[in-house]
Amino acid sequence: MIFDEFTIKSLIRPVPGFPRDGVTFRDITPLYQSPRAVRMVTDSMIQRYVESPVTHIGAIDARGFLLGAVLAYELNKPLVLFRKAGKLPADCVSAAYSTEYGEARIEVHRDALTEGAQVLLVDDLIATGGTFLAAAQLVDQLGAQVYEAAAIIDLPDLGGSRLIQDAGIATFTLCAFE
Ligand code: AMP
Repeated sequence: MIFDEFTIKSLIRPVPGFPRDGVTFRDITPLYQSPRAVRMVTDSMIQRYVESPVTHIGAIDARGFLLGAVLAYELNKPLVLFRKAGKLPADCVSAAYSTEYGEARIEVHRDALTEGAQVLLVDDLIATGGTFLAAAQLVDQLGAQVYEAAAIIDLPDLGGSRLIQDAGIATFTLCAFE
């Protein structure tokens, strides 16, 4: 299906003041209520990575799971969950980071990745870039490499995608809100 940025952006609802004053939350639930829009987003990502050397899909808690699970299925790659602290049951590696609205910690199972893996990290949105950079740190700690950091939305004014690129990691986003 042909990607239509106008349609995608019109289905992302801005919620000013959530989760706190000064933040405009970009809500993707309307997008996920449109099977056509979900197909556009998924197809664009599949097209980009189908011929790539990606070996694993690394999906970020929680909205990254939505896209990540579908990409893992369609690209026939293992799905690795990067979760907020305390959710994964087995032995983990863990990294602290700060986001647009606070401090957080992300974890992945120690046995989820091994040397040589080329991981596509997936989330719904890039804001300050802290989440992707923390996930990338964990990938690195396990001896694997990040192939690219992909999201539906970029918030370029918050500088995250630039920061991720400055760290030597390519980013890919389908739309941006200035
Ligand atoms: P960051 O680490 O600052 O790049 O933030 C990205 C993560 O926080 C993603 O998992 C997003 O789901 C969430 N996030 C941060 N800011 C927003 C926002 N304005 N709207 C929706 N989600 C956000």
